[in-house]
Amino acid sequence: MSKKVIETKNLTKFYGKHRGIEDLTLEVSKGEIFGFIGPNGSGKSTTIRTLLSLIHKTSGEGYLFGKDTSIDKSVLKNVGYVPSEVFYYDDMTVIELLEYSASFYSGNYKKRIQYLAETMELDLKRKINELSFGNKKKVAIVAALLHSPKLLILDEPTTGLDPLMQKKFYNLLKEENEKGMTIFFSSHVLQEVQKICDRVGIIKEGKIVEISSIKTLKEEKYKKFIIEFSKKVNKNLFAIENVSDLKIEDKTHSFIYKGDVNNILSLIKEQTILDITIEEPSLEEIFMHYYGNE
Ligand code: ADP
Ligand code: MG
Repeated sequence: MSKKVIETKNLTKFYGKHRGIEDLTLEVSKGEIFGFIGPNGSGKSTTIRTLLSLIHKTSGEGYLFGKDTSIDKSVLKNVGYVPSEVFYYDDMTVIELLEYSASFYSGNYKKRIQYLAETMELDLKRKINELSFGNKKKVAIVAALLHSPKLLILDEPTTGLDPLMQKKFYNLLKEENEKGMTIFFSSHVLQEVQKICDRVGIIKEGKIVEISSIKTLKEEKYKKFIIEFSKKVNKNLFAIENVSDLKIEDKTHSFIYKGDVNNILSLIKEQTILDITIEEPSLEEIFMHYYGNE
């Protein structure tokens, strides 16, 4: 089996004339926890639904385990999917629904369901249509995990879960990942992606703007500068490419810079500096670099 669990090449989906995603290219390898991050409307759900062939792509390529799911649906049995919206109107109980889900796979899933429900604090005897949104989300999570899929696709899975529950959920994901599960985790919440993912793809207005490891994003490419000059300097001093989040307060300039720090040092070499700090920006500050003050 291919090492690439997910692969897209210039994947494009238009809803009529309306842009869903455009020229989206990414790869997720076996064993990764890949964060797919972007604000509402950026195209996360469109990407996922296109990959699963729940909707038809306009152009480009998309593969799961090397297969185009619009042609070959057999690989979908190795996939677990938690959609962003969970609609269950059934009069069934949680256990009835989960056993129904399990009936599509061979094997006995009773113990697995018990274990997952316990971990997620889900009451199996409750009626589905009486559950809160968060509890319905838990049902979707257990349903997606029960057959131990090789690939788990999560579309904003933690909305509706309280922070303690989220933590338990992350631990469960880490545990499954250690056993070999590849996880594609879509979110608009920066902190959670930072906690759990190895690598992230950042999507903006339907396009990928960066793919990088969390570590690289934080440590290598970006620096936050805080420079205090001895006197006021030209406010356009740092009006150069790859400077973002520039704030000037009297003689102090602070900003995020992506690139070689020597470029900044040469800009300031004529100035007298009272104080300078070069530090790791927070993930939020890095994201500002892409999204500006939207
Ligand atoms: P996200 O999941 O990141 O919030 P979506 O993939 O849902 O983003 O949406 C991407 C873009 O596609 C948005 O501009 C959204 O309005 C549009 N879109 C999503 N679904 C539909 C649809 N069924 N019909 C028309 N436009 C849609
Ligand atoms: Mg969405």
